[in-house]
Amino acid sequence: MRLGLVANHLHHSHPKAALFRWLHRCETGIRELNLGLHTVGGTHDAIARAGCLTNYPALRRYPSGHEGGLVKLVAGIVGAVASNEVLDGAIYLVNPVDGSSLFPEALALKRQCIVHQKPFLSTVASACDWVEIERIRAGMKPDDGADPLHAMPSQTIAMIAHDAMKAPMMAFADKHFDLLSRFAFRVATGTTGKSLNELARKHGWPEEASWVTCYESGPMGGDAQIANLIFERRCQRLLFFENPHVPHQHEADIQLLERAVAATTDDTVCITCPASAIRWAEAAERRARLRPLRVDYVAGKD
Ligand code: PGA
Repeated sequence: MRLGLVANHLHHSHPKAALFRWLHRCETGIRELNLGLHTVGGTHDAIARAGCLTNYPALRRYPSGHEGGLVKLVAGIVGAVASNEVLDGAIYLVNPVDGSSLFPEALALKRQCIVHQKPFLSTVASACDWVEIERIRAGMKPDDGADPLHAMPSQTIAMIAHDAMKAPMMAFADKHFDLLSRFAFRVATGTTGKSLNELARKHGWPEEASWVTCYESGPMGGDAQIANLIFERRCQRLLFFENPHVPHQHEADIQLLERAVAATTDDTVCITCPASAIRWAEAAERRARLRPLRVDYVAGKD
């Protein structure tokens, strides 16, 4: 597998920066997966300077972002390139105070990941989560260090689906209802949540209890409410099925939510398309069978 890799400057400018927190936690998993990392210039050079991933042939250097490196990543996601440059997804460690994460090439990278149903991993937690998912899918033993990412009984999950993505969200929730029910709390934007609660009734969820707490509809402020929850570290996982093919009247709210995710980079996993959500859910179900939850991760025991 191959991922594009880029980190905003502040995320690779010192030894404890986000890029190195990810590499510190996942270098072993990266090597186990023999994961190709097609890395834009500045990010690549920072990795080399820090002495990470030494003698790792799958680490490849692309030009700097402003010299075409990011465009190469976008083309790799789209896939119309040499077969050894096709990417399965991208890690873009976004620092919310760095305006370059809003440049067209950065926005296009995210958008094309969503269009092509490939993971767009914008946080340290998302990138760590992805490595463990792929390790489990490849038949490897669960990594103890990833246990907190799977501590669902002490976590909240948020679910948002734009109109064209509501059917895939319902199909996903139907198939993985038991996994989603393991979370301590579920929240959703208004219309998505209403449909999810109707689905829960069909699964026998009691009439008197909401399966998911419904916030305002997205355009009426639901995305902002979830962003606030994320900033307060009260929501650890966001399933956000965006429709990349239509403009959104509440684009500012969507960006606000994405910035909240980026600002809580070690604590928030964001999954941006149904294909990635399915890969996560299948791996999480398999991992739960292989490795029952430690008692201190069960709700109320923290
Ligand atoms: P909705 O909001 O679930 O209320 O439709 C989703 C959105 O458009 O952000």
